[in-house]
Amino acid sequence: MTVNTLTKRLEEEGIDIANLEPQKAFKAWSLITELTEEHSSEALQSLYQCAKAASHSGHIETSNNYLYEAKAYCNQLDDKETALKIYTLLSNNYTDMGDYHSALSSLLELATLASEYGDMDAYVHALVGIGNLCVVYGNHKRAMQYFDRIARVDHLLNSMLLRLRYRLFTVSSLLELHDTATAHKMLMQCEEMAKIADVAEQDEHTLVCQIALYRAKLQRLQGNNHKALNTLSKAKLLSRKHNTFWMRGILAIEAAKSLIQLGKPDTAAFLIQRQLSRADLTVPTASIKSLLETQSRAYTACGLFFKALERQKLAHEISKNIIQRSPISDLEGQVMRKLSNLELKFRLIVSEKENKLLKAAHEYHKNTVAQLEEDVYRDALTGLYNRRGLDKKLDELTKKTSVSLLILDIDHFKAVNDELSHLTGDKVLETLGELINRYFRKEAFATRFGGEEFVILLEHSNLAVAWQTAEVFRKLVETYDWSAYLPDRTLTVSIGVTQFATDNEKIKSALYRADKALYTAKAKGRNAVCIEPPSPKAKDVPIYGINNQGRKQ
Ligand code: GH3
Ligand code: MG
Ligand code: MG
Repeated sequence: MTVNTLTKRLEEEGIDIANLEPQKAFKAWSLITELTEEHSSEALQSLYQCAKAASHSGHIETSNNYLYEAKAYCNQLDDKETALKIYTLLSNNYTDMGDYHSALSSLLELATLASEYGDMDAYVHALVGIGNLCVVYGNHKRAMQYFDRIARVDHLLNSMLLRLRYRLFTVSSLLELHDTATAHKMLMQCEEMAKIADVAEQDEHTLVCQIALYRAKLQRLQGNNHKALNTLSKAKLLSRKHNTFWMRGILAIEAAKSLIQLGKPDTAAFLIQRQLSRADLTVPTASIKSLLETQSRAYTACGLFFKALERQKLAHEISKNIIQRSPISDLEGQVMRKLSNLELKFRLIVSEKENKLLKAAHEYHKNTVAQLEEDVYRDALTGLYNRRGLDKKLDELTKKTSVSLLILDIDHFKAVNDELSHLTGDKVLETLGELINRYFRKEAFATRFGGEEFVILLEHSNLAVAWQTAEVFRKLVETYDWSAYLPDRTLTVSIGVTQFATDNEKIKSALYRADKALYTAKAKGRNAVCIEPPSPKAKDVPIYGINNQGRKQ
C-alpha cells in the first residue's frame, strides 16, 4: 500500500493524519517511514513529516536527525520543493535551539535554492528568518533592512499568510524602534489581511494573538495602558489552547510593562515569575532574557533593588551569550551582499517568467480577438458568413464588375417547419449550409443572408459562368438524399443571379436585381435559376442555348 492510499484510508476512517497532535503524528509517521521503500520519494515525505512532528513536540534534535536524512534523499531524488521545506524547518529548529550560526547557514541555503528555483515565497521565508536573527540580538534597525527588502518584492508573493507574517514582524520591529505612526498604519493593514487570509486553525490563533499583542504594545506606547491590558486579556482568552511558551512569554512581558506604568509593579513581577517558573532556564534564549529584564524593571519599581540587580545580571549573561552565538558580522555585511547577488538572479528569472506569461497572455488574447471577430462575421447555425460578413467582404472588393451575385431561397420551407418541426427545419438549413460550403468553396463567398435565404458572391465570374454554377448546385440540392430529415419529400431551391453593374454599385441595387430574378424563378414554379442582368443589353445574350430569363427550357 502506498503512503497516499494509506493516508486516504485513514481519512476514510475519520483519522486525519495531518491534524493529529504532534506526539501522535510523530508516532504515526515513524511507523509509516518503516513501511516505505528506502530512498523513495515516499520515504522522503514521511521523513519530513517525522521531522515536522518531532519539531512541533519540542524534540528538536530528533527532528534535525530526520531532516539530515531527508536532505540526503532530496539530493538523490532532485526534489527541490521538499528541499525548500527541509531548509525552512531546519532553520526554524536551529533558531529555537539558539544555534544562530547554523540557522543562518540554513537560511542562506534556502535563499540560494529559492533563487535557483525562482520561488519568491521560499526566498522571502528565508529573509524573514534572517531578519528575525537580527531581532534575536536586538538589532531592529538591521532587521528592518531585511524586512524592507521583502516589501520590495511583496507583489511577487503568492501566499497571503506570508505577506501577513512578514508585515507582523515588521510591525514588531517598528514598535521596538518607537515608530508608532508607521506601525499603526501597517498593523491596520494586517488586521484587514487577517480577515481574508485563508489559514489553518492553529496559524489563525497565532495570528490573532500576534496582532492583538502588537495592538496592545501600540496602545501602551501611546499611553493607553488600560486599553492595552484589555486587548491582551482578550487575546489570551482567544488563543489559550494554542499558545506556545514564546507567545505566553511575550504576552506576559507586554502585560507587565503596562502594569508597571499603572503603578502595579508587584503584579507585573508576579506575572513574569509565573512564566519563568515554567521556563527551561538552562537554555538561554532571547525570550527568557526579555522576561528577566522586565522583571528587573518591575522589582526596581517595587523598590526591591537587590532582586532587580540579580535579574539584570542574569539577563546580561544571556545577552552576552546570545551575542557570542550570533553571526553578527555576517548579518551586517556579507549576508546583505549575498542577497543582493541572489536578487539579481531572481530578477532575471522573474522577468523571464513574466515575459513568458505575457507572451502566452498576448497569444491568448490575439486568438480570442480573432475568434470573436470571426464569430461576429459568422452565422451560428450554418457556419457560413452572415450579413455583416458580406458587408465586410464587399468593402474589400475593388473590382466588382467581375463579381456575380446569387440569391438562393429554399422552396416551400415553411411547410418543412410546419409539417416536420422547427428542429428539422434547422437540420435542413445546417445541411444546406454544408452543401453550399462544400460546393462554392473556390473563389466564392457564401453567406446566410437571413432565414432560409443565402447570398453567394462569385469572383472572377460572368453571368454565363454564374448561371451554370447555380444550375449545377440547384440540381445537386434536388438530387441530394434528404431522407435523414425529410422522409417522404425532397428539397429544392430557387436561385436568382445577377452581376455587379459597376465597380462601385451598391449591394442594395445588385440585390434588388437578384431578388427580382429569384421572384421570377419562384413565379415559374420554383426549383429554378433565373438571371436579371445589370443592363437590359445583356438580356439578349443567350447563355448555353438556355433562355436567360428562366429555368430549363
Ligand atoms: P417559398 O417557396 O415561397 O420561399 O416559400 P417558403 O415557405 O420557403 O417561404 P416563406 O418566406 O413563407 O417561409 C420561410 C420560412 O423559413 C418561415 C420561417 O419560419 C422559416 N425560417 C426562417 N429562419 C429559420 C430558421 O432559422 N430555422 C427554421 N427552422 N426555420 C426558419
Ligand atoms: Mg424566403
Ligand atoms: Mg423560401
